[in-house]
Amino acid sequence: MGIIAIIGIVIYGALFWVMQVNLKKIKEIAENEKLDQIADQYPENRIICEEMLKKVKNEQVMIEEDKEANTTMYLAIPNKIKIANLKGNYSRIQTIAHECLHSIQNRRLLIANVVISNVYLLFFIIVFVLSCIPQIQGKQILLCALTLLGLSYYMIRAYLENDAMIKARYLAKEYMEEKQSVTKEEIDSMIYQYDKLNDIGIRCVNFQLFGGIVIKVVLVALISWGVECFF
Ligand SMILES: [Zn+2]
Repeated sequence: MGIIAIIGIVIYGALFWVMQVNLKKIKEIAENEKLDQIADQYPENRIICEEMLKKVKNEQVMIEEDKEANTTMYLAIPNKIKIANLKGNYSRIQTIAHECLHSIQNRRLLIANVVISNVYLLFFIIVFVLSCIPQIQGKQILLCALTLLGLSYYMIRAYLENDAMIKARYLAKEYMEEKQSVTKEEIDSMIYQYDKLNDIGIRCVNFQLFGGIVIKVVLVALISWGVECFF
């Protein structure tokens, strides 16, 4: 178990380095007053969302604005887009495009994502608790099952996120061009910044997703190892 924990930590560190995760840089790119002002010329979030849903031909989606929330998301089961407090940030157009794109993804995959993420979390809690009990046998098998479940979750979730993240820039661009609220140069400067944001952002999201699975494996392996050593 100790070896698995060490391998997990090394993999986590190596992936962090390879993927060049830099949350500070993302924050820096996301802060741009000039672009915020350009984006201000577009309608408010709910209207953008409605118009984009019309564009992707999926108007049955409910839209809910929650100024207290920090994350904008698409909820597959109630088929609802929850728009958080996006402030006046220029990235809001791409963020809304991202959620609208989630809403038109393959329904089976969306539901599978909800099911597997909950099953995975529940299974992790069970394995975590069992790993603390010295009398429990076969912890390696539990850890192996947890890893496989984690990888299955990762596969579905990473596909859904990458698909939405990669396409969002195009939908946002098309939308901005159709509205004709700002000049072509201004749209180009927004898209240039979206590309910079996505270059790091997509890597970070993938790292966070996979890293979360590695951390869970390391945690269970470390506790099981500790319990083996001390009891
Ligand atoms: Zn997403």
